[in-house]
Amino acid sequence: MDIFRILSRGASLNKNKNKTTDYALPQNNISKSQKSKKDSIVNEVEKETDFFHTKKHHKPIEESKSSKSEEQVVEEEEAPPLEINNEEDARKFRNLHRSKVTGDDNPLPIGSFQDLIGRFQIDKKLLSNLIDNDFIEPTPIQCESIPITLSDRDLIACAPTGSGKTLAFLIPLVQQLVLKNVTKNHGIRGLIISPTNELAVQIFQQFENLVKGKNLKIAILSKQLANKLNNDIVKSSKYDIIVTTPLRLIDLLKAGKIELSKVEQLIIDEADKLFDHGFAEQTDEILNHCTNSKIRKSMFSATIPSGVEEMAHSIMKDPIRVIIGHKEAASNTIDQKLIFTGNEEGKLLAIRQMVQNGEFKPPIIIFLQSITRAKALYHELIYDKINVDVIHAERTPKQRDEVIKRFKNGDIWVLITTDVIARGVDFKGVNLVINYDVPQSAQAYVHRIGRTGRGGRSGKAVTFFTKEDDKAIKPIINVMKQSGCENGFNEWMENMGKLSKNEKKSIKTHEVKRKKISTVPKVIKQKRKQKQDMIEASKRRKQEENNE
Ligand code: ADP
Ligand code: MG
Repeated sequence: MDIFRILSRGASLNKNKNKTTDYALPQNNISKSQKSKKDSIVNEVEKETDFFHTKKHHKPIEESKSSKSEEQVVEEEEAPPLEINNEEDARKFRNLHRSKVTGDDNPLPIGSFQDLIGRFQIDKKLLSNLIDNDFIEPTPIQCESIPITLSDRDLIACAPTGSGKTLAFLIPLVQQLVLKNVTKNHGIRGLIISPTNELAVQIFQQFENLVKGKNLKIAILSKQLANKLNNDIVKSSKYDIIVTTPLRLIDLLKAGKIELSKVEQLIIDEADKLFDHGFAEQTDEILNHCTNSKIRKSMFSATIPSGVEEMAHSIMKDPIRVIIGHKEAASNTIDQKLIFTGNEEGKLLAIRQMVQNGEFKPPIIIFLQSITRAKALYHELIYDKINVDVIHAERTPKQRDEVIKRFKNGDIWVLITTDVIARGVDFKGVNLVINYDVPQSAQAYVHRIGRTGRGGRSGKAVTFFTKEDDKAIKPIINVMKQSGCENGFNEWMENMGKLSKNEKKSIKTHEVKRKKISTVPKVIKQKRKQKQDMIEASKRRKQEENNE
């Protein structure tokens, strides 16, 4: 059976004028009891979130359509933005948002973007750009980070996926740099580093909206720009701010084609990734080129393990540390669930079951552990030119960009991928993340599932596991507990395996060997083989007859 045939049978896809996409499962295929079951799942998923005071603006269309009791509506409209005038107000604010702020002389959070007018003389155009983009009230991480940065303090910030960390560093960056009048071709003053190109592009796009009408020259270090810099067609001093991945920047630094000595604002997004093996050396090299003694540094991520924090402290001056929620928790807008599929074949069966139950509601992202497996699942699901596509490191940047665009537009419903897009990428309306293969660490899990439940929306994350994963699910259960998703797993799952330190390490460094992905049932495979054997035998017979 082809699950996507069921999916495509009556699925409707409405695009509203704002280009966000509303996906709906075929209602005519769902019985009343299935519908009420589906509704109850949706209701269960729609948990209260504190990220956005403006939740009404950012709700998925379907959510606003659902019939809610008046009490629920009243409850949502409560909690007006706090005015924060003193330490006591700040304490209340931090209690409300479960935020912890540590460091010497940390400034009070802001309660609204308007607070920035009185306290930091925020640029009027910057403020109006925010409003024009529908950013009406700051999220908790923005409330805390913006005043810290504008007070010229180094910052280590940890806040859930989809909670608005990008604006938390972009707003003060713009403000800091527009405030100072510098001569033309002064040199790069702001540097943002991101681990992947996709994320760099996204940061740059959000940035462009923010600096509209301001005299700031920003650029993404694309291949084209790198070529121009390499061939001296343009000089790096032309730019005020650069957004880049480490490798491209390092190539230019080595060639002496880019100059970082004027950088006064350095932002490291997805900091734990950039301090992890594979990236740490490159990050260090970049830091060595940032020689301005007045440089201010920030790092952001949804997961900051202690080791990374130690490293951060060693390169920062008296930093303030902000943690929203729990350090190792997922966003509380994501409903998480573990499903035991017995064996590999069980995973496709589980997807079919989700389709039958009305739980397979696009847009969906499916993560697998390797490129080979991602390709294999893609080929299994591609029958009949269905809206499924795949992104992995072997595809060209252009192909990757194209697929992301099509997924965001709603032309692709199901995106199959590896960890290559697990971090940062903001797909607003993703309903469901499926971990077809168990991620190798708690951090990888938090970032993968963080592609849903963004910007205050609700989302769902399902992780399949087999006998082979008895050890690897432990860190995931811990995240689920920290995020308050105790209902997403059973007690027996928790007792499956206790981890020693070595085992933990081994999970992170070794991929689980898995059986190949295939939907073709064994009997059919056997029949095909029999047929093939018969053809071969008949060929041999003919050959023998000819030889005689
Ligand atoms: P994070 O980096 O924390 O994972 P992002 O910065 O990508 O999250 O933001 C997630 C989504 O929330 C984005 O779509 C962004 O436009 C939106 N967003 C950010 N800040 C606000 C705000 N103050 N009001 C409304 N939406 C916001
Ligand atoms: Mg981010």
